[in-house]
Amino acid sequence: MTEPGLLIIISAPSGTGKSTLCRKLISNFPSARYSVSLTTRAPRRGEVQGKDYFFVSKNEFKQKIKRDELAEWALVHGHYYGTPKDFLKRNLLRGKDVVLDIDVRGAMKLKKKYPQAIFIFLAPPSFSELERRIKWRKRNSEATIKKRLTNARWEMGRIGSYDYLVINDRLVDAFTQVKSIIVAEKSKVNRSEEKIKKLNLI
Ligand code: 5GP
Repeated sequence: MTEPGLLIIISAPSGTGKSTLCRKLISNFPSARYSVSLTTRAPRRGEVQGKDYFFVSKNEFKQKIKRDELAEWALVHGHYYGTPKDFLKRNLLRGKDVVLDIDVRGAMKLKKKYPQAIFIFLAPPSFSELERRIKWRKRNSEATIKKRLTNARWEMGRIGSYDYLVINDRLVDAFTQVKSIIVAEKSKVNRSEEKIKKLNLI
């Protein structure tokens, strides 16, 4: 038997550097897999179908909900986003750790279904710094900036529901902190049943 993998849920307001951090995690933990979400939003320049997201129509997304193929889903900034259930279950059963980059609403839905998951909130050093970062992304329109900031304020008000808070001031420090959290969680006795058996105590 293999120990089930760790479900690692990372939420952060947009502009916090979450995607970069998640990518770094996947390349540093050979046993970790990134859960590619489904979304109804249009791809941004450079985004690849099946790698960054599965870009689908609203109709396709609704079919997935109907067929109960999503572990969770949420409407974020006017678009649907969801986590494919099959990938999640399959990898956890095989002992692979799965990293999810999802919003606060989706994370709270998973908290009920997967109480053993770990919930990490990645926050900017301050709200004004986040505002600066979002405005600096020139492709964002005024309306988008306003919507993202309102949502960010709401999301940051939900930090209390998470297990860990990591401040992303410098990416390398935030990464070290997240890595330490994962290593510590994986060493917990209540996640080590198989390792204990292998100690051959009897
Ligand atoms: P973006 O469009 O900037 O890539 O993502 C917008 C927001 O949607 C981010 O907060 C991201 O974490 C969230 N998101 C991405 N995938 C999922 C998902 O599968 N489920 C939920 N609930 N949120 C997601």
